[in-house]
Amino acid sequence: MSLRLVANWKLNGSKEFNHHWAIEFFSNFHGNNFSSLGIAPASLYIDHLKGVIADHDINIGSQNIDLEETGARTGEISASMIKDLGCVFSIIGHSERRILFQETNQMICKKLIQAENNSIIPILCIGESAEENQNNATFEVLQQQIIGALENAGELSSLIIAYEPVWAIGSGKTPNPEDVNSVHEMVKDVVQSRFPKIGLQSVLYGGSVNFKNALSLFEQKNIDGALIGGASLDGKEFASIANVFNESRI
Ligand code: PEP
Repeated sequence: MSLRLVANWKLNGSKEFNHHWAIEFFSNFHGNNFSSLGIAPASLYIDHLKGVIADHDINIGSQNIDLEETGARTGEISASMIKDLGCVFSIIGHSERRILFQETNQMICKKLIQAENNSIIPILCIGESAEENQNNATFEVLQQQIIGALENAGELSSLIIAYEPVWAIGSGKTPNPEDVNSVHEMVKDVVQSRFPKIGLQSVLYGGSVNFKNALSLFEQKNIDGALIGGASLDGKEFASIANVFNESRI
């Protein structure tokens, strides 16, 4: 299984939403292989969503996990709990978690280890701010985030990295696809050269991906897929993006 298109539903959803999304998605998706697709609903709805998409092997994951396995940590959800519900991946270190919940590289590293210990594929998010981008500090910032998260993580049998410029998330702005391609090339080089024991599966792009801009991104050699927020809430649009992805890979 190789995850290529992952929906991040953030703090959205309901049981009714799950049903409606599935109708819209399945009536518009042209493919019959679901193994490259993933959905990260709010954790409370993981079980319900699994039931709704039961006959199709779309991967389900969480948007976050705790850095500990168990303990007095009110409100948290562990990697083993999401595994128990049938999740195969978890988003880790999303910029919203770094900014709103003060997640540090150290905490993110512990979450990566929790994921590994429970056979959950981590999708590690990295990305520069608008200011860092304007100051041409993108590569430096991303390298710091990669090294900060991975240097004490040990061996990770699988890892997906999502490059998500903070200024592109939910803003309708996207970087030039060629620039994203260069960033992804650098990310692959850094991980493969500095962390040879980490099994990097793919590097996804995230930030205002939609049906209209998807092809220009997917045509790039080093863009292996996408992490999609806003546009993924519409089952029909997510299906259209997945159709574009599949056509770009023929
Ligand atoms: C995200 O937050 O992971 C994301 C990619 O959001 P959006 O697609 O809405 O920019």
